Amino acid sequence: MRLLLHLIFCASLAAAQDRDWSKVEIKVQPVSGGIYMLTGSGGNIGISVGEDGVLIVDDQFAPLAPRIQEAIKHITEKPIRFVLNTHYHYDHTGGNPEFGKDSTIIAHDNVRKRLVSGSPSGITKADPAPKAALPVITFDSSLTVHINGEDIQALHFAHGHTDGDSIIFFPKANVVHMGDDFVTYGLPFVDVEGGGNLQGMIENVEKAMASVPDDVKVIPGHGPLSTKADVKKFTDMLKDCIALVKTAMRGGKTLAQVKAAKPLQKYDAIGQGFIKTNEFIELIYNELKGDIGKAKQRSTKHH
Ligand SMILES: [Zn+2]
Repeated sequence: MRLLLHLIFCASLAAAQDRDWSKVEIKVQPVSGGIYMLTGSGGNIGISVGEDGVLIVDDQFAPLAPRIQEAIKHITEKPIRFVLNTHYHYDHTGGNPEFGKDSTIIAHDNVRKRLVSGSPSGITKADPAPKAALPVITFDSSLTVHINGEDIQALHFAHGHTDGDSIIFFPKANVVHMGDDFVTYGLPFVDVEGGGNLQGMIENVEKAMASVPDDVKVIPGHGPLSTKADVKKFTDMLKDCIALVKTAMRGGKTLAQVKAAKPLQKYDAIGQGFIKTNEFIELIYNELKGDIGKAKQRSTKHH
C-alpha cells in the first residue's frame, strides 16, 4: 500500500512537473465594488476584497498558489479567509491543498464527494484529493457568506457542467461567477461521468441569468469578463446545436449517420478547440437518445 501510494504520488508529481508553471502570469482585473477577476491557467478566479478579508472563488493549480497569493497581496494585506469551489475539476480546485492551510474551503456536497473519490478516467482524471484539499464546509442547495458588506451566495444547480456546480452571486457589486456552466472557449465541455447534462446546463444558466440585473458583470469559468448578452448568445447557440442534431436524428439515424450529415457545420469554427464538433454531436445524440428512452418509459407507465 505504501509503495502504491508512493507511486501514485510520484506519477501525479511528474504530471505537474511536465508543465512549465513559471510561464503562467497571474493577471488581476478589477470588476466592480471590491470584486476582482484573476486569470492565469485554469478556471477564472473571482475574489471579494474588503475590510473583513478576502474570499476567493476557485484556485486553479497548486503550483500557482504562491503567485496567486502574491497577486492578492498587491490588492490587500488582509488574509484569505474563505475559498469557494464552483465544482470539483482540478483546474478549479488544484490550489485547495495550499489555500486550505489558512482558509476555510466551502463547496457543494458533491464537490467534496468527488474530490474524496478522485476521477478514474477521461479528461477529468484525478487521484483522490488529500485531506488538506477537501472542503470543510459543504452545503446541499445554497450557502451565503456575509463578508465585506456583501451577501455572497453560492447557489447549487443540479446536473449542468457536473453534478456539483455552484454559481456564485455578489448582489451588491452586481457580479456573478458562473463556474464552468458558462465558458467562452468554444463548444463547452459537459462532464457526463461527473453527473453533467447539457440541457440541464442550459436551464441552469437561464435560471441564473433570469435572477440578475441586465447590466450584471459575468465572470465565466474560462474566458474574458462577459455580459448577460454574451451568456444569451452562448445558450442560444447551445439550443440551436441541440435542435440541429435532433433534426439530423429523425428517422432513427445512427450516431455515425448523424455525424456524417454534419448538422453542426456552421459551428465548425468553434468546434476545433478543447471540444471537437463530433464530440459535441455525440454528447447531444446520447442525451437525446436517453430522453427518448425516458419518454418511452413514461408513456409505457401511462398505459
Ligand atoms: Zn470544469
